[in-house]
Amino acid sequence: MGSDKLSAYKKRRHFKQTTEPKPRVSHSKSKRAFVVQKHDASRLHYDLRLEMGGVLKSWAVPKGPSLNPEDKRLAVLTEDHPLSYKNFEGVIPEGEYGAGTVIVWDRGTYENIKMDKKGKAISMSEAFENGTVEVRLKGKKLKGAFALIHMQDKNWLLIKMKDDEARKKDITKAEPRSVKSGKNLEEVRRDKSK
Ligand code: MN
Repeated sequence: MGSDKLSAYKKRRHFKQTTEPKPRVSHSKSKRAFVVQKHDASRLHYDLRLEMGGVLKSWAVPKGPSLNPEDKRLAVLTEDHPLSYKNFEGVIPEGEYGAGTVIVWDRGTYENIKMDKKGKAISMSEAFENGTVEVRLKGKKLKGAFALIHMQDKNWLLIKMKDDEARKKDITKAEPRSVKSGKNLEEVRRDKSK
């Protein structure tokens, strides 16, 4: 079962070649999921994905997320991915879109904390359409409130909001490994080519 939401995802991939998940719309049973995948493609980047409307809304973050509220990280909106992509770790073959190695750098659940001016909660899709998403992440590495602010075209900024989970340390350097397998990119690549 395909979906209009995932048509861009589907169009870019050959599912006989790649082991990435098939395009299928589905919802988490309870809390909504987020994942950050570290992706060593033509350029190393981190893919932030938030479950929204049965798919994973996705942003490519070249420098990766930061726990420091002073950092503003460029986050480029990319195509929606199927929910099951949150578990994908492996090697996307040469010639395929995004060819390179992917690890599950962080994952967990999130809460929508965005409110309107009157303090009333607004939906994720409304927050996204308005260009200001605010979520509280509960991951292994990323915790606390984060904002995604729309700039122009596909460009957003990912910023840690000030709270007790804000940190100065460089989390991408301090914790480079997968939370799924404990492996780093090189180990996943090597294990695949065996
Ligand atoms: Mn990517």
